[in-house]
Amino acid sequence: MMQYFEWYLKPEDDLWNKVISDSSYLSSIGISTVWLPPAYKGSAGIHDTGYGVYDLYDLGEFMQKGDVRTKYGTKEEYIHAVKALQGNGIEVLADIVLNHRLGADGLEDVIAIEDNPLNRTQGISEPRTIRAWTKYNFAGRNDIYSSFKWNWTHFHGVDWDELTQKKSIYLFYGKHWDEQVDKENGNFDYLMGADVDLNNVDVVNELITWAKWYLDQTHVDGFRLDAVKHIRSSFFKEFLDTLREDTGKKLFSIGEYWSANLESLKQFLKETKNAVSLFDVPLHYNFFNASNSNGCYDMRTILDGTLVKSNSEKAITFVDNHDTEPGQSLESWVQPWFKPLAYAIILLRDSGTPCLFFGDYYGIPEKNILPMKKILEKLVLARKYFAYGPQTDYFDHSNIIGWVREGDYDHPDSGMAVILSDGPGGSKVMNVGKRLANHVLYDFTGNVKEPVYIDQEGNGIFYTNGGSVSVWVKENNIYVK
Ligand code: CA
Ligand code: CA
Repeated sequence: MMQYFEWYLKPEDDLWNKVISDSSYLSSIGISTVWLPPAYKGSAGIHDTGYGVYDLYDLGEFMQKGDVRTKYGTKEEYIHAVKALQGNGIEVLADIVLNHRLGADGLEDVIAIEDNPLNRTQGISEPRTIRAWTKYNFAGRNDIYSSFKWNWTHFHGVDWDELTQKKSIYLFYGKHWDEQVDKENGNFDYLMGADVDLNNVDVVNELITWAKWYLDQTHVDGFRLDAVKHIRSSFFKEFLDTLREDTGKKLFSIGEYWSANLESLKQFLKETKNAVSLFDVPLHYNFFNASNSNGCYDMRTILDGTLVKSNSEKAITFVDNHDTEPGQSLESWVQPWFKPLAYAIILLRDSGTPCLFFGDYYGIPEKNILPMKKILEKLVLARKYFAYGPQTDYFDHSNIIGWVREGDYDHPDSGMAVILSDGPGGSKVMNVGKRLANHVLYDFTGNVKEPVYIDQEGNGIFYTNGGSVSVWVKENNIYVK
């Protein structure tokens, strides 16, 4: 799959129209699912990525927050983009943000208790009246699609008191943070803005009503669920079960549970009864650490502590995303030299669902990050044409690791040997199996020029340069022909 956006896109990039023109290309390289950014109006209007959600019903259709369109275009263009992708056999995931609201239309006086920001289970003030941004009327939409108006009763709390102009963590009196959330800061229910209260049945009903409307309007195939560690986990099963039953669609969904702790991810899967898949955040941090270790990372351990190793069915593997970019909230940018190695690991192995990042593929002009399309396209195509059949690992050296795929009968010329090093270059003997015996293999990436000869037993001596990856496939293969 592909995450088709990065943080610093500009309104003039016209993302929805770019999706339309790119859709047949994406299909041709083997992309089968595309994750699009939040399509509704954010508090910063055309400058909002969509994560600062203001009105879930405004997909770039109403004059609100300074413009009709969103950063990415109009509602009409969005629906057209979804159709263009689906017309090319690609499923579309909508990014939905249910944890918070920003950019309220009005203030309300609410009694609240201030919590210790570092331990939200601890109140640090008496109940007192604060003035909170919790009133949402959506006057610009004028009740079209929904007449639901949000007020303080639909939220748990906020982080700003307009009366005292003080930032803190304010829990509305009589409410409590949900238990089934991440335990960082004592309780991580609160993230930002006005925190949506998912214990309130009116709220749950409204979100289900909205999601049905959204599916009906856009016909997307599934969801990427934002900030799930800040929302009670039991909500998601209820939410998705209802929608799956209602639409009869499988609604493939991925949760963003941002934690490098595998146990937290496993706990969430257990609590949601596997209703969602999860991004493999521990694997991202392994890549990040390896890329910053000057070759001193023990590559035999690159998959240790990851979701793909523990529960590959539920693992969405990725290298970077819009939040890990330089300057963003979860900045942990994998160094460019390591990216081809990391992508080889997620794309060419037999487990996990790999997610290609727009910012890696097309670059991030705002941060002078160059596109890596040339090498990444090679790796994506190597997955499409050659990454089939039984896998054998050679994770036996602290710098140079490799694996082979023996190929299968359904894919002519398939099979491959992958070798990579986070330190100096070198070689490794690997057995690619009988199907590639007595053949000549070449490095599909072009990194190593000399061919490799496979003997009658299937053995070959494979090479990689230092800090590099090579992907050995059969000469005169179906792709070349
Ligand atoms: Ca929350
Ligand atoms: Ca090493």
